[in-house]
Amino acid sequence: MTEPTTVTVECTLVLVKPDGVRRGLSGEILRRIEAKGYTLAAVELKHATPELLAQHYAEHEGKPFYAPLVEFMLSGPVLAVVAEGQGVIAGFRSLAGATDPTAAAPGTIRGDLGRDWGLKVQQNLVHGSDSPESAAREIGLWFPQTAA
Ligand code: UDP
Repeated sequence: MTEPTTVTVECTLVLVKPDGVRRGLSGEILRRIEAKGYTLAAVELKHATPELLAQHYAEHEGKPFYAPLVEFMLSGPVLAVVAEGQGVIAGFRSLAGATDPTAAAPGTIRGDLGRDWGLKVQQNLVHGSDSPESAAREIGLWFPQTAA
């Protein structure tokens, strides 16, 4: 078997949302990221601010779920993580599962550990960047010291 000639290591921003931190699931979520073979490049417990969340969720501004989502994200600490590895952006989204934890497949973080608590899809344990552009932007927001 020939070795791959190019290895593109990428990074993604993962957030363990306040429901995950509150329920003591941070360790289990980090375990799943590491068990998949990704590296934890940065891990920090943070309290989000309205300004940070306005930037993080800018694409959702104006949607009916936006204000309650921001309120939820301010309801407790968030574990911000930079995970690294080849294909980690898509790979973490596979680990996370579908946005709606009721519909998320068993085996995924949301499918195994999440459920509908009366707010449908808001409290779904984790965030993961959805593209290289989002990952670069979001890592810069949550870990400004790493920005070039
Ligand atoms: N969300 C919500 N209500 C909705 C859709 C989304 O509260 O109807 C929240 C949910 O926490 C989700 C986040 O907004 O994770 C961002 O939505 P997106 O569609 O980007 O989902 P994700 O990429 O997180 O799966």
